[in-house]
Amino acid sequence: MHASPFPYSLDNKRYHTLNYHLRTVYGGKLYKAVIDCGFTCPNIDGTKGTGGCIFCDGGSGYFTDGSLSPRAQLEKEYARISAKNGDVPVIVYFQANTNTYAPAEKLREMFTSVLDYPYVRGISVGTRADCLPDDVLDLLCELNERTALTVELGMQTVHESTLTLINRCCTHEEFLIGFGKLKSRGIRTCLHIIDGLPNESREMMLETARQTAMLAPDAVKLQMLHVIRGTRLAEMYTRGEVRLLTREEYIDAVVGQLELLPPETVIERITGDGDKRKLIAPEWSADKISVLGGIDKRLAELDTWQGRLYNANKAAEK
Ligand code: SF4
Repeated sequence: MHASPFPYSLDNKRYHTLNYHLRTVYGGKLYKAVIDCGFTCPNIDGTKGTGGCIFCDGGSGYFTDGSLSPRAQLEKEYARISAKNGDVPVIVYFQANTNTYAPAEKLREMFTSVLDYPYVRGISVGTRADCLPDDVLDLLCELNERTALTVELGMQTVHESTLTLINRCCTHEEFLIGFGKLKSRGIRTCLHIIDGLPNESREMMLETARQTAMLAPDAVKLQMLHVIRGTRLAEMYTRGEVRLLTREEYIDAVVGQLELLPPETVIERITGDGDKRKLIAPEWSADKISVLGGIDKRLAELDTWQGRLYNANKAAEK
């Protein structure tokens, strides 16, 4: 196997690993404390849609208890994390549903309540690009001054036909507007992409990566489409209406996408990390080690790496 020619990795990977990012920026690993503020989503409460995106189960973590205050949840999460790992630094991840979908003052109370906890090094806020009004953006700018802030946006795909099919109720154009507002304010962004959405070909997935590369996000999270118990996707899957990617197809798509993405973009996730207890399919996705190993192996076999086609891609656009 060839040695990796890729600079942003400490362990011979051929993509910009989260491990590399955390070690170079923070000097070591950061753990993730997941918080559920009990927010809903405009795509669930009827403001923009009902029922949510077809794959959505709310996105809460394994251990969160949304009935507690964010601070109490953090203390509980930290007790769990430190029992295994000692007094380690954490990022507080506001993950469940849409975490900017509330009045700015309420958001301020929630977000700032965790900032002075001794082991907190930053916060990540998961949201939709169409839920960023000016007063919320002002708050995010303020938080960005006080801590290491990342805003995580569910982009999923650039294809409008797929966005309609998955019932996101937010166009790609709206996504681009929200993303631009964060970028122009210097707020770190992490874009979520899902591979294997219904009716998407490999070329469509590569096009999503090509257009993502043009945005030069700070980070991306890649994952395959998961069928989770209780979702509308699960009903479609049971009726035989959805074909999922095989492990090999997913690896092939991810390798092609990595080649197109800028080398500086951190790959914060490269396979799924959903709740296995709720996973219906694909079963192969539960074996993360095998998927990660398969991606490394394919990158080495092809002697390729993240960003290998990025410049050519940029030139083609001009
Ligand atoms: S935007 Fe996010 S929280 Fe809202 S329905 Fe879609 S996946 Fe769920």
